[in-house]
Amino acid sequence: MLMAVRKPLFTPWGVEGEIDYDRIIKEFGLEIISDELLSKLSKLAKGLHPLLERKVFFTHRDLPWLLSKIASGEKFFLYTGRGPSEKTHLGHLIPWIVTKWFQEKFKAPLIFQFTDDEKFLFKQDLSLDKVKSLALDNALDVIALGFDEKLTFFLFDTMHADLLYPQALRIAKKVTFNTVKAVFGLNQSSNIGQIFFTSMQAVPAFLPSVILGKNIPCLIPMGLDQDPHFRIARDVLPRLGFYKPACMHSRMLKGLTGSAKMSASKSPNDVLFLDDSLQVAERKIKNAFTGGRETAAVQRSKGGRPEICSIFNYFQYFFASDEELSIIESECRKGLRLCGDCKKQLIEKVLKFLEQHQKAKERAREKLERFFFSSECLRKVLS
Ligand code: SF4
Repeated sequence: MLMAVRKPLFTPWGVEGEIDYDRIIKEFGLEIISDELLSKLSKLAKGLHPLLERKVFFTHRDLPWLLSKIASGEKFFLYTGRGPSEKTHLGHLIPWIVTKWFQEKFKAPLIFQFTDDEKFLFKQDLSLDKVKSLALDNALDVIALGFDEKLTFFLFDTMHADLLYPQALRIAKKVTFNTVKAVFGLNQSSNIGQIFFTSMQAVPAFLPSVILGKNIPCLIPMGLDQDPHFRIARDVLPRLGFYKPACMHSRMLKGLTGSAKMSASKSPNDVLFLDDSLQVAERKIKNAFTGGRETAAVQRSKGGRPEICSIFNYFQYFFASDEELSIIESECRKGLRLCGDCKKQLIEKVLKFLEQHQKAKERAREKLERFFFSSECLRKVLS
């Protein structure tokens, strides 16, 4: 039986207030990624990505099963995606970075889905043309991160509807309106496209199995807020004769203004867009919410609070080695470091990253079509 979430304050379309991860783990029925599991993964991959070591990815579904498939030499594929409602920001990169790590370690193909239909249906102010152009722009960011063009397959929901829609119908036939209402908080006033949409998001989890004519294991690294879609997909797929996809979930990156999940819909100052000019990025970081105290003197005597600090969150997720992170945390807690020092250090790292990324994105334009989905190429890499 699919578990319903009674108060859906945490859905793919909205995260409000402080995130109570313990409550969500219980309500969603997730497993914690244990040290033992990480050590199994580390043996197979000969190392771990810092986002795994630092437990930014912290929960899973059926990861031991997926690792046993890898250990036995079975091929698997990765699936992640992007709902193109705006330009890409750093928070979007968390699942992508870990997905890329899996691709490099295991030479696994990746289906990358751009749900332009979803954003058209859920964002009243976005036209279809606008979401389609945002999807193509976001795709350039994905390419700029360095995914392998021979192993990465872009699916745009409206462009590849001929491939996706017949499979989405198979899902839709098994999902009731009651389930969608309970899991996503949709109601009688929701438009009928919203009610159907989750069927489209389920398709990449089994499309390679359809194309190859045999079950292929799938791993989906995602932000925790996307899990409701895959609770439904995992409920339905075995009833259609397919494997349930294994899932891994990341914590949310805090917003620069102090919000629980970085989101441009709250304020453009909450996020660092990958297209931000260096001056704009610098200004946003200078004005960011920190765990600092009212005055420098109080901070020196009491120390700061990295656990609530958005700047520390950036170091943790992206911009500090283990050694740097431990120095920042210890100096902060002891009052040996002031927030201005941290901001200066982060600005240097972020500007360097943005400069490199923006150049890579320019070069990505000419490669875009090579990443478009091809059943034939997918069949080759999975055979
Ligand atoms: Fe955050 Fe650094 Fe300030 Fe500590 S010193 S609260 S880590 S910005």
